[in-house]
Amino acid sequence: MDLLAETDDQQALRRLARDVAERSLEPTARHWDETEEFPHASWKALREADLFTVTVGERYGGMGMGDVESTIVLEELARVDVSSSIMCQLNFNGPPRAIEHLGNDILKERWLPRVASGEVLFCIGITEPDAGSAANLMRASLTEDPTGGYRLNAYKNYVTGGHVAAACLVWCRFPGGNGAKGIGAVVVDLEKDGVSVAGTHEKMGLRGCTEAELAFDDVHIDDEEILLRGEPDDAEAFKTLLSHLNHERCGNAAMCVGAAQGALEHAIRYLNERTVAGRPLAGLQGLQWKIADMATQLESARLLLYRAVKAADPHGTPPALETAMAKSAANLAAKFVCDEAIQIHGGYGFSREYPLERIYRDIRGLCIGAGTVEVTKNYVGSNLLKGRTTASPGWKKPVIP
Ligand SMILES: Cc1cc2nc3c(=O)[nH]c(=O)nc-3n(C[C@H](O)[C@H](O)[C@H](O)COP(=O)(O)OP(=O)(O)OC[C@H]3O[C@@H](n4cnc5c(N)ncnc54)[C@H](O)[C@@H]3O)c2cc1C
Repeated sequence: MDLLAETDDQQALRRLARDVAERSLEPTARHWDETEEFPHASWKALREADLFTVTVGERYGGMGMGDVESTIVLEELARVDVSSSIMCQLNFNGPPRAIEHLGNDILKERWLPRVASGEVLFCIGITEPDAGSAANLMRASLTEDPTGGYRLNAYKNYVTGGHVAAACLVWCRFPGGNGAKGIGAVVVDLEKDGVSVAGTHEKMGLRGCTEAELAFDDVHIDDEEILLRGEPDDAEAFKTLLSHLNHERCGNAAMCVGAAQGALEHAIRYLNERTVAGRPLAGLQGLQWKIADMATQLESARLLLYRAVKAADPHGTPPALETAMAKSAANLAAKFVCDEAIQIHGGYGFSREYPLERIYRDIRGLCIGAGTVEVTKNYVGSNLLKGRTTASPGWKKPVIP
């Protein structure tokens, strides 16, 4: 299988996304970063180009495409502006996908047409101040409401887009559960009584897309708003939710690959234009090696990513081990490529006149969100040691005593 081969439709989608990105997102990327305003104009441009339809099923007004197409679009958007691309990440790979795969018909009818039209953004609330990597320690909980349904009490932080989203998928504990047992998820309309934006985080990068703190104070939850019920005696719902995060992890990797691609292109252009002491920088072998290393790391990460998303074809979930490898490889490649691109630009790389320092600050956040590099590597290492392997034919299954 040629991992990077694209169908005619996929090539057309890439051209469309690149056109929107270069025409509408690139010129304003610096503005959103400096002002920390939410990129409403980017939202409008993405909506007008129908890009929010990509992953939503045709019955709900979408194009019914999968992880490969999501990756293509996110790569192209993040190549010029990671903050704006996150809106597509939220709607492609966040709660709407989970609703379509796991939700009931009422949730699908209520939300998916509005996602496809780009009218609403979704956010996801997993992290809490004392439960980040260890999400199984979350305190968010539901109690039974004597009048029917449940009451939700939760405090979620780092909720990307939480201050502008229409709804949030809140991971929470159903009555009686402990640890990972009993954790499930509910879809909360953020207009409901008891929901408030308690604050926003001041950040190093991704400054165009705010991370909010959302408080849920005795919010009534109807039965049909349950996406996945956590049973007190098992962790099955939690495991399903975690495996569904593979979409988000691949989206995160796609944004890293796209951002690094943008940084590499800037570096190649600069080396070809700049002369120092009368010599073109492009002729210096030490700098050619930098470009070679940058491109090699980037292409390796891209291949791992397309392996993961093509394994999910057409509408499954990307496999966990392949996804974890792709996510950490893309995070680390982006960090390396952006850092080297700054170095290649000398003082200009450090200056805000060039976009490299912004790209570097943006991808730094992606190395933490959707599971940190360390936690992702824990997953890979511990699973390999238990005898699990990727689908690569090169593996001989290890014998585990
Ligand atoms: C830009 C951005 C966007 C985000 N968006 C969302 C969102 O939309 N919704 C949401 O719910 N959350 C979101 N998050 C939160 C993110 O998922 C958490 O920050 C992340 O899971 C880490 O949790 P923590 O910050 O509490 O760090 P901690 O869990 O406290 O970890 C601190 C450090 O210890 C390391 N560490 C922790 N446990 C282990 C371990 N077992 N082995 C090795 N190292 C370990 C971590 O890798 C990290 O380096 C976002 C974060 C960022 C930065």
